Amino acid sequence: MQNRKPAVLLWALSAILLCLCGCAGRTEKRQFFAMDTVMELTICGERSALDAAQAEIFRLDALLSAQNQSSELARLNAGQTAVSDETAKLVKRALELSRLTDGAFDPTLLPVSQAWGFFTGEYRVPDAEQLRSLLEKTGWQRVLADGNTVTMPQGFALDLGGIGKGYAAERLRSLLLQAGVRSALLSLGGNVSVIGTKPDGSAWRVAVQHPEGGFLGTVEAADECVVTSGGYQRFFERDGVRYHHILDPQTGRPAESGLSSATVVSGDDTAADALSTALFVMGAEKAEEFWRRCGGFEMILLTDDGRLLITEGLRQKFTSELPFEVIVR
Ligand code: AMP
Ligand code: MG
Repeated sequence: MQNRKPAVLLWALSAILLCLCGCAGRTEKRQFFAMDTVMELTICGERSALDAAQAEIFRLDALLSAQNQSSELARLNAGQTAVSDETAKLVKRALELSRLTDGAFDPTLLPVSQAWGFFTGEYRVPDAEQLRSLLEKTGWQRVLADGNTVTMPQGFALDLGGIGKGYAAERLRSLLLQAGVRSALLSLGGNVSVIGTKPDGSAWRVAVQHPEGGFLGTVEAADECVVTSGGYQRFFERDGVRYHHILDPQTGRPAESGLSSATVVSGDDTAADALSTALFVMGAEKAEEFWRRCGGFEMILLTDDGRLLITEGLRQKFTSELPFEVIVR
């Protein structure tokens, strides 16, 4: 059985951050564990701003964790229908993104993820019959959010794990801006968001992890996020088969879309988080179609057979030692 915390920890530590040098003013940096991952916040600013940012993450974790039985989300899942403005707003956003992605992003998969053991670490492979009956308790279309009331059929439960870190990044970004921070690198597991540029005016460089180790390349980023979803981020193995945590809402099984990872670059942290999960479920072909149809973000896809694809908006921002193809409109 795989102990996921050290794996997630190692992954998050090894991931993403290059070029933290160059912060001419006062650099404050902090690392902690929240939302089931290692987070590292680096800001050019006062320590009090970092304290506030960390407190905000813990507040959101306590609000939105599906595992923490006292969270508002857990109470909603237990049958309470009245929720705070903030939770109502995020649930509505999640449902909008489900609609936009034609259900590839679906926040109602909690019962299925639980059956696989992804929340407890007690992994098992549910059989086809179990999955069939669990899937009857899923489906974003059956969740209704109106004002501060969220209702869903008996047995349904929401998991905001595919969007929560993006929302946390969005909150941190606005909180830090309000505190006067003009340069920051916020690494929340697979979600990296930057404020401004490095103090010397050059763009932050965010490395995108290669699922097999090392990096796929780096993205020059300013006031945007680089969010990656991939099966390598959390998985277990049984009888020589690898099962990962991103589920195909159609089958209830780990998505097998032919992608090893999907990265979204965007100014909208919350949407980017949901989209990277959704693109991973869609696979390269549908992801390309989706990007052409919806736009508003750029992406980097790595296929299981090693093709690296980037959208044209990243042409000047993405650097890699690997060969890559550019997707154009
Ligand atoms: P991410 O790391 O943002 O791709 O999110 C993965 C997490 O989202 C998983 O650990 C689950 O909690 C949840 N999840 C899994 N599959 C889906 C899906 N198809 N749609 C939405 N959330 C999902
Ligand atoms: Mg996500």
